[in-house]
Amino acid sequence: MKAESILIVEDEAAIREMIAIALDMAGFIVLEAEDAQQAHRIIVDERPSLVLLDWMLPGISGLELARRLKRDESTQEVPVIILTAKGEEDNKIQGLESGADDYITKPFSTRELLSRIKAVLRRSSHRAAERAIDVQGLRLDPVSHRITAHDKAVEMGPTEYRLLEFFMSHQERAYTRSQMLDQVWGGNVYVEDRTIDVHIRRLRKALEPFGFDGFIQTVRGTGYRFSSKVEGRSEAL
Ligand code: CA
Repeated sequence: MKAESILIVEDEAAIREMIAIALDMAGFIVLEAEDAQQAHRIIVDERPSLVLLDWMLPGISGLELARRLKRDESTQEVPVIILTAKGEEDNKIQGLESGADDYITKPFSTRELLSRIKAVLRRSSHRAAERAIDVQGLRLDPVSHRITAHDKAVEMGPTEYRLLEFFMSHQERAYTRSQMLDQVWGGNVYVEDRTIDVHIRRLRKALEPFGFDGFIQTVRGTGYRFSSKVEGRSEAL
């Protein structure tokens, strides 16, 4: 799994450094910014998994940056935790009203910081898991477990559904049959490689009437991939 990246926005180098070391040791990729403008650029370009945002920054405050991020559709999904020395209750309310996902008062322990970060990341990946995925009109809604193709229902079995869900959330990457077994069937189930091919065939058949079967591509010598960049028809098994 790809390590999650955390952007630390703090003008005081010593505090930034201390947090960076703790996050690095916990296995996160650390990005750093010393003011709101620099932070905004990094958020747009690098899409960090979470932003730790100090309230007191020179120029645009952390609170103001949080509001801007949450107002803008392209950045509002990025989780934000506000860090501050202000401990009063109304500051906390103001912090959370800015749209921030959580609020931590300085001084805090590394342990507290990490547990709050993990909690916010868990909530945000949960929200992401509930968002429908749409690829050129093929739409998977994880909440209702429905697949539609240009708004028409696509019928398929539960295994084909799980396979398609895995593919649509991991597009443009080739997977071996054993990786797919781990990810879709779960590690300890005994399933033959051939079984995967059978389900792939069923999935393609379900998608075929809508012209989406070409998204399920055979990667010779490897396995399969989901790609909307269709290079001709998918190869026959
Ligand atoms: Ca500061």
